[in-house]
Amino acid sequence: MRSSALQALFATTCTIGPRVLPCAEGDECWPSMTAWAQLNNTLSGRLVRSLPPAAPCHVPYYDAAACDAARGNWTDPFWRSRQTGGYQDTAWENGDEACHIDGPKDMPCKQGLVPYYTAVVENVEDVQAAVNFARENSVKTRIKGASHDFLGKSSGRGAFGIHTIKLKGITFDDNFVPASCNVASQGAVTVASGEHFIDVYKAADEHGCTVVGGSSTSVGGAGGWILGGGHSFMSPVYGLGVDNVLQFTVVTADGQTRIANECQNSDLFWALRGGGGGFAITISATYKTHPAVNNISFVAFGVVANESSHTPFLATLLSLLPAFDDKGITGYVYASQTKTDVIFMKTDSDDVASVNATLAPIYDLVRQSGNDLEVTHPATGVAPSIYSLFSGGFGAAPEGVAAVLGSRLFPRSVFEDEEKIGNMSQFLGSSGVMTILCLVGGGKVNKPAADVVAVNPSWRKALTHVVVADLWPSSSTTSERNVVRSKITRITQRLAEFAGPDMGAYINEADVNEPDWQRVFWGSNYDRLLRIKNIYDPTGILTCQKCVGDESGGAD
Ligand SMILES: Cc1cc2nc3c(=O)[nH]c(=O)nc-3n(C[C@H](O)[C@H](O)[C@H](O)COP(=O)(O)OP(=O)(O)OC[C@H]3O[C@@H](n4cnc5c(N)ncnc54)[C@H](O)[C@@H]3O)c2cc1C
Repeated sequence: MRSSALQALFATTCTIGPRVLPCAEGDECWPSMTAWAQLNNTLSGRLVRSLPPAAPCHVPYYDAAACDAARGNWTDPFWRSRQTGGYQDTAWENGDEACHIDGPKDMPCKQGLVPYYTAVVENVEDVQAAVNFARENSVKTRIKGASHDFLGKSSGRGAFGIHTIKLKGITFDDNFVPASCNVASQGAVTVASGEHFIDVYKAADEHGCTVVGGSSTSVGGAGGWILGGGHSFMSPVYGLGVDNVLQFTVVTADGQTRIANECQNSDLFWALRGGGGGFAITISATYKTHPAVNNISFVAFGVVANESSHTPFLATLLSLLPAFDDKGITGYVYASQTKTDVIFMKTDSDDVASVNATLAPIYDLVRQSGNDLEVTHPATGVAPSIYSLFSGGFGAAPEGVAAVLGSRLFPRSVFEDEEKIGNMSQFLGSSGVMTILCLVGGGKVNKPAADVVAVNPSWRKALTHVVVADLWPSSSTTSERNVVRSKITRITQRLAEFAGPDMGAYINEADVNEPDWQRVFWGSNYDRLLRIKNIYDPTGILTCQKCVGDESGGAD
């Protein structure tokens, strides 16, 4: 019995070097054209030969109308999400190959990291057919929804893609009880994995409630965001996304549809709340709803600094983080070497003055600095609802650039220590990369026990998620990109020293080259996650890069 199972396994996998890898396009074990045609039949024609989005601009894929459409939509995140080969971060679309949107027609367009075939699933049966095919043929499989991943988890050279963006539906239930549970009912919304958050916010607005979601309009409502933990500008008030999810409906690697909640498949439910991708394919997530938020005070502005004023400005911002937490103010800071953009928000408040009062040390610094600091495009106001904030432009940004990033979660104590603030602002101010401060910790994020869900336990003592990021132009060479990658890894490791040895990184916005990634991404939860991974996906069908179980190979 055991030996025939092993024979079956080795009949459909390829040995490359010392590792046993799932089959990729080009490998001898890659399924035959007949097998793919059969899958296409089962999917009623929804298997596509996926290509980079710029492919129609180049021979042999040239199509003038499709090329014009690609050029016109190139930076639109929603359009990118709909393309089987489209990614918001093009570092994970092309890899170190190229398929230029502006290049001449006869310039070669390389496949890069875009999966070779993709099943564009429209219902649970499609997902089951795709998963069964992947398992039976042991193919390298990648799941992609809204396509925002920063660590290359949704793309892979020669892979078989399963694209979930057409799984739609947002359904409210004011008396929801998780299946098989004997608990009091509560308000909830079930979000299909192909939904974007802007549509969830719109539906919640119409239904008169609040749903905790990403601070970007285009992030997937029940895909990578929730599986990785899901932070929000609302998190200090309501917790992380994973603190708000009541139930998942998924298809596991054996092709079965399962419900995971506190009362059934509870180990899987635990893992899906922060374990990242690779445990199952999410069909939907059911979130708690909260009463409607009527007012959100916001203050936004830019600050132009010079070499001498940038570091003191950054230090002042860092020193204010505990006060923001105390006053219930959340927001984001995007600090490059010469220009910083900030937005601060206070939920359920129409008191812009109190936000401005907390910002007084910044305004004082600007006043005292003469011409060394200049405030640009100030905007303040009170948004009447969460949807109005987002539909007014917050959380909408052009995509389609290549970004690499690293991060650490920071405890409050760092920002209460003048010496640490001084050293850290000095370091970040001269790092040459962008620093992003996400004020998404503290408050309710710090309340649950460290292991109540699978996210890195250091979330429970994190005040701020600090990201460092850099970009490269599409014309850069591989060695130029490697310089940027190494720089981000070096800066991230220094950031880790400032955060302290027991703090980790948020897996959805982290350095893909993080050494000791299992500990940094999941801390003491990793071993339990690996055990659950081996129960629900024993042969590693749902592999992805730097996902739980990746050390056994197959997710390059
Ligand atoms: C512009 C932008 C804004 C962002 N803002 C935030 C933010 O406010 N808060 C925050 O926490 N993060 C944010 N992120 C990070 C974001 O959470 C991650 O990039 C996340 O992976 C995105 O999920 P996705 O489904 O959109 O992406 P995808 O690339 O489609 O998916 C990422 C991975 O998630 C898994 N996955 C996706 N769908 C499924 C599914 N149906 N079943 C099983 N696995 C699945 C797969 O492993 C996949 O590889 C942002 C990213 C970007 C690019």
